[in-house]
Amino acid sequence: MNVLVINCGSSSLKYQLIETDSETVLAKGLCERIGIDGSAITHTPKGGDKVTTTVPMKDHTDAVKLVIEKLTDTNVGVIKSLDEIDAVGHRVVHGGEKFASSVVINDEVMAAIAECNDLAPLHNPANIIGINACKEVMPGVPMVAVFDTAFHQTMPDKAYMYGIPYEYYEKYKVRRYGFHGTSHDFVSKRAAEILGKKREELNIIVCHLGNGASISAVKKGQSVDTSMGLTPLEGLIMGTRSGDIDPAIVSFIADKEGITADEVVNILNKKSGVLGLSGGISSDFRDLGDAAESGNEMAKNTLEAYAYRVAKYIGAYMIAMGGVDVIVFTAGIGENNAIVRALVGKYLTCLGTSIDPEKNKLRGEEVILSAENDKVVTMVVPTDEELAIARETVRLTK
Ligand code: ADP
Repeated sequence: MNVLVINCGSSSLKYQLIETDSETVLAKGLCERIGIDGSAITHTPKGGDKVTTTVPMKDHTDAVKLVIEKLTDTNVGVIKSLDEIDAVGHRVVHGGEKFASSVVINDEVMAAIAECNDLAPLHNPANIIGINACKEVMPGVPMVAVFDTAFHQTMPDKAYMYGIPYEYYEKYKVRRYGFHGTSHDFVSKRAAEILGKKREELNIIVCHLGNGASISAVKKGQSVDTSMGLTPLEGLIMGTRSGDIDPAIVSFIADKEGITADEVVNILNKKSGVLGLSGGISSDFRDLGDAAESGNEMAKNTLEAYAYRVAKYIGAYMIAMGGVDVIVFTAGIGENNAIVRALVGKYLTCLGTSIDPEKNKLRGEEVILSAENDKVVTMVVPTDEELAIARETVRLTK
């Protein structure tokens, strides 16, 4: 079966065409600056070179048409016609409390996704636009929505409720939802597979460390806690997001700087995290690592603070689950960054696990970092959210 996986942002659209029997990526690409001057599509067919074409795209429907053109092109294409796309899987950021698993998209589902717009005003409307664009260009092709929040819907209320007046939950559904669920689910499943165990037998802590970063406690196959909250701003220190702070900081800074609360929250989302904490060195961990290695104290302290927060969450989730069997690193930093893994590893020795410095040099590979007799397994499992979305799409449409 050929599944087109779509991840739509407000001015971008990422895609992968996956042949799901062999789980092969036939082609992938990205449309950027949709609706803005200078829009471009970058398309990479399997085994071929990346081709970037600057071409006007006034909206997402134009972008989807262009993706189909590329996929069926005589030179860079990988299928003969649209008929070879059997289903489309859409990443949808927020499913609120309505969606605890993926669903086949129909009018009712579209309305329910729109009801979650308030909770993810930057993401859900873009996801809806992407779904509508695909429906227009590929009418009759079954479509599935896979939600970032769904996997965490198993959290008990003691984990998802905030200590604020209950009426805000009742009136506005203010609670913790968590994100990156597709990744936490995929990675915890794969970790159990690698270890030759059932996920239902294990307590797994997944550290998804990318530009956005979150940790989850996966107890016997179910998410029982995760570090992101109502929005992806809570939890770890991230590339540009602050993670946990004293909420009183918002009005304090607004007052001192003469700006609005919205503007402060924007700073907490876009100018904080390791970018802000390092005094502006970078949000990218490669740059921070280079700066730290050349002796920059701000970069060193930032990496220390980052790792300390990760370690504290690991400790908390071990307690939340009544013990931990496996700790997994994933996403850009978790899969590739030896410095961060080693810094976190220093804190983990008290749990009876270790990180082998030689194995820690590996990048982007499935590897067990701990020693054979360690009480807790520490490992790296690369995530693949597109493949997870394609699998869900097959499960619901085949
Ligand atoms: P997202 O998908 O959330 O945008 P990623 O999962 O791609 O983010 O992670 C991006 C982060 O991963 C960046 O900080 C980047 O520096 C880091 N990263 C990626 N590759 C490497 C590498 N080879 N060495 C160190 N860090 C890396």
